[in-house]
Amino acid sequence: MSTSPYIGRLAPSPTGAQHLGNARTYIAAWLIARSRSGQLLLRIEDLDTPRTKTGADEQILVDLEWLGLDWDWSENLQRFTLQSQRASRYHELLEDLKRRELVYPCICSRTDIENASSAPHESHLDGAVYPGTCAGNDVSDAKQLDSLDKKYAWRFRFSKDENMTWVDEFCGIQSCIPSQVLGDFIVARNYGPIAYQLAVVADDHDSGINHVVRGNDLIYSTYRQIAIYNAFQWQPPIWLHIPLVVGPDGKRLAKRHGDTRISALRSLGWKPESIVGMIAKSLGLLDSERPIPLAELLDLALTNPDWLRKVPTTNVQFNI
Ligand SMILES: [Zn+2]
Repeated sequence: MSTSPYIGRLAPSPTGAQHLGNARTYIAAWLIARSRSGQLLLRIEDLDTPRTKTGADEQILVDLEWLGLDWDWSENLQRFTLQSQRASRYHELLEDLKRRELVYPCICSRTDIENASSAPHESHLDGAVYPGTCAGNDVSDAKQLDSLDKKYAWRFRFSKDENMTWVDEFCGIQSCIPSQVLGDFIVARNYGPIAYQLAVVADDHDSGINHVVRGNDLIYSTYRQIAIYNAFQWQPPIWLHIPLVVGPDGKRLAKRHGDTRISALRSLGWKPESIVGMIAKSLGLLDSERPIPLAELLDLALTNPDWLRKVPTTNVQFNI
């Protein structure tokens, strides 16, 4: 366990408006950080969002504050970090990976991969496993692709057949052979922004994040992120992957399940205390649902130091 002061983060993406599922993860992350006298930073993951979608950042702040969440300013006195402003840092890291041949250029399309990937290798939450079609490439092969104006991705090479084991503070011991179960993964493309996995690791490392609370749909991403931490010889954080809010079909909450956006509920007259109460019940902090302000929920968490161990380990559904 890390002995340095707890530093966690909220990392909303402006691609879709914040909904009840996001709210539950943020509230859990906030409760865990605050109940351990920790800091909580805010990062807006706007890599894939065209800048035309201005106003999305502001909407996120409004939604978080309306729920009662607060966060700390970063060391360089920013209220929040925007991934879109860190491109040069990500590219510097990509160049480092290239110098060490830890990545290779891959020209496969999504369809190529789905067709080449044999069914039993489908990874549970993660789509088709990359079959290694371009794994024989080395970094210098990109030169020819560049001269032909071809689109390609940079894939990170997992150590072949090596087992990776790590401990999730919520889910316990995790173990698999990533090169077989997940396959090499994309860290960048020669068109478009740096990929999520590299950006997240760079951001978490650079801002001193040592605890990451997020939804368990990202549990397989953790293997990829650990491989990146190891490549740079950085200390990985402690991860807590908590179960998701799902729709009646058991799938991750999405638009087709109806409008559960925080902003929509607010305009329907919902009070933040009611949403916090519903989430508190789902986290096992309340026996029955009742409105409760977030500050009061923190008191409840502080008087029940074991609360995290009682959070249900199955995905939850909300009836609204
Ligand atoms: Zn390929």
